[in-house]
Amino acid sequence: MYVEVLLELKNKKTDQTYTYEVPKELEKEMTIGKRVEIPFNKRTLEGFVVAFNQNPPKEYTIQKINKILDEEVVLNEELLKLAFFIKESCLSSLSNAISVMLPSALKASIKTNVNKKYQTLLKIEKMGLNQVKTKSQQEIIEYIRSTTKPLKKEANLISSSSVKTLLKNGIISEYEEEIYRLDEITVLKDTKKKLNEEQQLVFDTLKENLNTNKKFLLHGITGSGKTEIYMQIIEEVLKRKQTGLILVPEISLTPQFIRNFKARFDHIAVLHSGLSDGEKYDEWRKIVRNEVNIVIGARSAIFAPLNNLGMIIIDEEHSDSYKQENSPRYNAIDIAEWRSDYHNIPLLLGSATPTLEKMARASKNLYQLLKLNHRVNKGPLPHCEIVDMASEIKKGNFYFSETLKTEIEAAISRSEQIILLLNRRGFSTTITCGNCGFTYKCPHCDITLTYHKTSNALRCHYCGYKTLKKEVCPNCKETLDFYGVGTEKIEELLHKEFDNVRVLRMDTDTTRRKNSYDGMIEAFKNQEYDILLGTQMVSKGHDFSLVSVVGILNADTTLNLPDFRSGERTFDLLYQASGRAGRKDTLGTVVLQTFNKDNFILKCVSEQDYDKFYYYEMNIRKKLKYPPYYFLVSLKITSKSYEEASKESINAANFLRNNLNSTTIILGPTTANIFKVNNIYRFNIIIKYRFDEKLKPTLKELDKLFILNNKVNLEIDFNPLNI
Ligand code: ADP
Ligand code: ZN
Repeated sequence: MYVEVLLELKNKKTDQTYTYEVPKELEKEMTIGKRVEIPFNKRTLEGFVVAFNQNPPKEYTIQKINKILDEEVVLNEELLKLAFFIKESCLSSLSNAISVMLPSALKASIKTNVNKKYQTLLKIEKMGLNQVKTKSQQEIIEYIRSTTKPLKKEANLISSSSVKTLLKNGIISEYEEEIYRLDEITVLKDTKKKLNEEQQLVFDTLKENLNTNKKFLLHGITGSGKTEIYMQIIEEVLKRKQTGLILVPEISLTPQFIRNFKARFDHIAVLHSGLSDGEKYDEWRKIVRNEVNIVIGARSAIFAPLNNLGMIIIDEEHSDSYKQENSPRYNAIDIAEWRSDYHNIPLLLGSATPTLEKMARASKNLYQLLKLNHRVNKGPLPHCEIVDMASEIKKGNFYFSETLKTEIEAAISRSEQIILLLNRRGFSTTITCGNCGFTYKCPHCDITLTYHKTSNALRCHYCGYKTLKKEVCPNCKETLDFYGVGTEKIEELLHKEFDNVRVLRMDTDTTRRKNSYDGMIEAFKNQEYDILLGTQMVSKGHDFSLVSVVGILNADTTLNLPDFRSGERTFDLLYQASGRAGRKDTLGTVVLQTFNKDNFILKCVSEQDYDKFYYYEMNIRKKLKYPPYYFLVSLKITSKSYEEASKESINAANFLRNNLNSTTIILGPTTANIFKVNNIYRFNIIIKYRFDEKLKPTLKELDKLFILNNKVNLEIDFNPLNI
């Protein structure tokens, strides 16, 4: 018997498989998808068996594999096919694709120390008990006899010296049993809610389509009861003896979601980046062994090897976290679509603010649109007020407007809570006039220019347009300054402004420790604080019933990011944050502070009007030839040598211009936004296309050329999130 073994060889992007012979005694155990240890050029390596070979080459002697490393198949048929899909759609190597699908304990060629974990248990060996001398020995025997639960050797309540004596006398014996590391959290069970009319309609549609590969987009406003629908349709899936896979943006940020599911269902595996390698390995094995029928996880959980999959749900479909930002640059939603077709099961994407791409697909019936237009509690949407910070600053209110101050005070006096959002991302790379709100924009691309300190220049990193930064604002002639202030500073100012106010600051600095995020959310819910202040993580799906005021301190920061999606990102963030106000009985107020009071996107946020935003933004995308009207591919060319990077980028752009359709647009090369990182120079090329049958073959060809060149590196990103 001969097999083809895939090796992950450093410095080689190629997918070479090597033929090996299987020793007679291992033939029975051998299947495709297991890892093997093999001799290779005097080394010992690990690899995946990807095929049998009926006609082994005769020109050279074939070596034998040393051993088979797995009892259970690691790469089942579906995952192996999926790896080929990733290879083809992301232009990655096969071993890279395989590697991204598996927990590190199960990768080939990576030496991990992750093993199965065991605990030592005790059982009674002989019944001649006259040797049991002391009371504590008797208690141990009694305990083992009386319950069906095995007794752990390291249990707290038993005397270790008595255990020793009993073991020595052969009355009891010890044995090892495999255990899972992740502790089960216990939650109070909860019964399903009676769906309202709107929910019922959505549920019925999904139920009718359970054995089809239909794709659904559930557009439901915040608090409209999407999660309840997810749980009820999953229950339906389980009734049919099938399993469910649910993706959420980042689990450590949505503990409530998991708790909701655990309150309904028993056999759930959880997969996310907060787990240790050992925990991930254990969760994976629970799945393979059919011990769970629901998997909830972040991006990479889309590869969970659930058998008999019945439905895939992706919550907060618009989240950036579903796209992997290094090779292979896959998008979990594309993988979900593939698996939906493979199993012939429905895919459900849910969001209060669907991406324009998904809405556009819905308008072409590639997705079926389902809608929830009302909050479950029938509560009205919060009242939203846009505050012009330019005029506030003239009154001396630099950070908190009169309106916001009044609202905060009123809320505190009513013992209600406040959320303040300060989105700091991107500050200082863009320049905004503190007086009039003027921002530098590219005349050709309608995105904010990026400030490069070294050259005192402002640049468009799409088209390369460049202009010098002036000392005074071109609009109002005031001195131009960076505008931006951090959460720490705001916390300090809040204490100055409001006597005895209790502020909980939440950002990447304060939530770094494991579980601290969860604890903070609980503390805020328990009213240990008046104000929750933080970056975008405070805007995510929490259900805080006592929050009546949401303040957006600076609505402009995301708006001014140098990206064509900045409008969409701003809308998502502010809309979601606004949705936190007045979730149950309290009527909410949202205060939106901005230097762009007439900005249309902010107007859409204040009216909580997604459709209005959608038509406006689609119009811009159409004019400027961005997605969803055009597809994008981004090429990143990097090198230690500026000359090489520059030369090869120009060559690459020429190669593309010579080979792609004439309707395809090629922008660049331009220097990247951050031009030099760790002494590596970076250039970008952007391809915009609608239909181009020459695209894939041309990019493959280009990729090959770059693999041969060891001075310059090329990365290709299909449908990039950031360009
Ligand atoms: P979404 O996911 O759309 O933001 P949720 O599913 O979290 O909304 O629902 C918001 C709140 O309404 C939750 O507290 C949930 O338990 C409750 N809820 C959802 N559906 C119903 C229903 N049919 N009857 C009563 N309460 C419901
Ligand atoms: Zn430009």
